[in-house]
Amino acid sequence: QEDIFKKIVSHCKEYGFVFPSSEIYDGLGAVYDYGQYGSELKNNIKRYWWDAMTLLHSNVVGIDSAIFMHPKIWKASGHVDAFNDPLIDNKDSKKRYRADVLIEDYLAKIDEKIDKEVAKAAKRFGETFDEAMFRQTNPRILQYAAKREEVHSRFATALNENDLEALRQLILDCEIVCPISGTRNWTEVRQFNLMFATEMGSTADGAMKVYLRPETAQGIFVNFLNVQKTGRMKLPFGIAQIGKAFRNEIVARQFIFRMREFEQMEMQFFVRPGEELDWFEKWKRTRMSWHQALGFGAQKYRFHDHDKLAHYANAATDIEFEMPFGFKEVEGIHSRTDFDLKRHEEFSGKKMQYFDPELNRNYIPYVVETSIGLDRMFLSILSAAYTEETTDKGETRVVLKLPAPLAPVKLAVLPLVKKDGLDDKAREILTDLRFDFSCQYDEKDSIGRRYRRQDAIGTPYCITIDHQTMEDGTVTLRDRDSMSQERITIDSIRNIVGENVSM
Ligand code: ATP
Repeated sequence: QEDIFKKIVSHCKEYGFVFPSSEIYDGLGAVYDYGQYGSELKNNIKRYWWDAMTLLHSNVVGIDSAIFMHPKIWKASGHVDAFNDPLIDNKDSKKRYRADVLIEDYLAKIDEKIDKEVAKAAKRFGETFDEAMFRQTNPRILQYAAKREEVHSRFATALNENDLEALRQLILDCEIVCPISGTRNWTEVRQFNLMFATEMGSTADGAMKVYLRPETAQGIFVNFLNVQKTGRMKLPFGIAQIGKAFRNEIVARQFIFRMREFEQMEMQFFVRPGEELDWFEKWKRTRMSWHQALGFGAQKYRFHDHDKLAHYANAATDIEFEMPFGFKEVEGIHSRTDFDLKRHEEFSGKKMQYFDPELNRNYIPYVVETSIGLDRMFLSILSAAYTEETTDKGETRVVLKLPAPLAPVKLAVLPLVKKDGLDDKAREILTDLRFDFSCQYDEKDSIGRRYRRQDAIGTPYCITIDHQTMEDGTVTLRDRDSMSQERITIDSIRNIVGENVSM
C-alpha cells in the first residue's frame, strides 16, 4: 500500500497534477502547486461540492470572504490562545516533533505487532483473523495489548488535561527514540501556535499584527447577519464558502494530506437552539451520500464519532476515507452550538441575534458545520481512481478511473494518422465540441501510446478519426475503463459523451 502511495505521488508529478512548490529551489515543505490537470480536477471537485450545497439546497447560499480578517476575530474564536500543537525537540538531532504524533506512531507500531502475532496464530490454527483475535491467549499478544491499553489511557488523560509534562513522561517511559539521531534525549514539551502571522500597514504608522486564516469558517460567522438580512434568509439556512486556509503544521507529511497552505470547503448551517442534533444527523447522512455518489464503493468510507469533544461542540464526527495509508479524516461535521456567534457578540460588542418571526423573539442561532479539505478530497479521489491493470498483451496499463464529471479532460480527439486529411477532420470535430466539454487534440505517437496517455490522466472517452470516417462520417469511440470501442456517427458524439460527463 505504501508502495502504491509512492506511485500516486510520482504519477501526480509526471502527469501534471501536483508539483512540489518552488521545486527548482528544492521545494518548500508541505506546500504544493497544482498543474494543468490537477487544477482542472480541483475545479471540478469544487463545482461538485458547490452545486451540491447551493443548487440542491434552496436555503444554502455561498460567499467568498477575505483571507485577512480583523485580529480580534482569532481572539474571539479561541485560535490565538488555543490553536496549538504540543512540540518536543530532540537535543541531539535538533529535530522538532509533535509530541502527540510520536505517541500515536508508537501506538500504531504496537497495533502492527499485535496484528502480526494474531495473523501468525490464525495461520497456525487455520482460523480467520477475527477468530484468532477473539480467542487470543498467546502471552506475547496479551502483553502488547496491555501495554497498548496503558499508553492509550495515559495519552488520553494527558491530552484531556492539556498536561504537557505527562506527555513528555509518556514519551520517556515508552522509550521513544528520535528517528534521526536514535537517542532519547528529549526537551520539555511546549505549545506551538499553528497560525501564520504577518503585518498589515507600514511599521512607521504602527503596523497591526494580522493572521492568515487557519479556517474559512470565521469569515462565515462574522458575515452571518449581512447574509441573513440582505438575503432575507429564514432559519434554518446555511452559508457555504470555498477558500484557502493556512496552518503552520509541524508534522507535514503524506503529500497533500497535510499542507501548510490548503483549501477548505465549509458550510455553516444556522438552526434554532434545541434542533441542532437533528440537523447534525441530517447533515451526516447528506454528506456521506455526497461522498458515496462518486461511486468508489461504500466500503471506502466510515464515520469516526468523537468521544472527546472540543469545548464548543456538543456532537462531532469525521468522515474517513480509506487512503493508501489507512482510513483518514477528509471531512469533519460538528455541532458547534452558539459558541462562535456568542463570542463574536462579546468581542465585537455587536448583536449577533436573529429575530425569529414564528417564535416572535430574538436569539443566537446554533450552528452545524460541515468542513471538508479540498486537497484531501483530491487525494482520496486520486487514490481510489489510480489503477494498474495488466492488458491481454501482458503490458501494464495505468489508468485513473476518475468519475467522468470530475475528469480534467472529457474527450480526446485523435486522428489515426497525420495525413490524408484525417488531422484536418479531427480538428474540425474538436472545434465543434470544445465549448461543450473539455477536449484535447493529440496527433503525436502511435494510437496505442496516445490511448495510454489519456488513460493516465483519466480521460473517459477517446474518439479516433480514421479512413472510414472520411467515407461514412463515423468515428470509433473508446471507453476508458472497458477499453471497448464502438463506431458512432460524428453527429452523435456531443450527446453520447455529454450525457455521461455532465455533473
Ligand atoms: P487533522 O486532525 O487531520 O489535523 P483537523 O481536525 O484539525 O484535521 P479541521 O480543523 O476539522 O481539521 O479542518 C477541516 C478539514 O480541513 C479536515 O477534515 C481536513 O480535510 C482539512 N484540513 C485540515 N488541516 C489540513 C491540512 N493541514 N492540510 C490539508 N487539509 C487540511
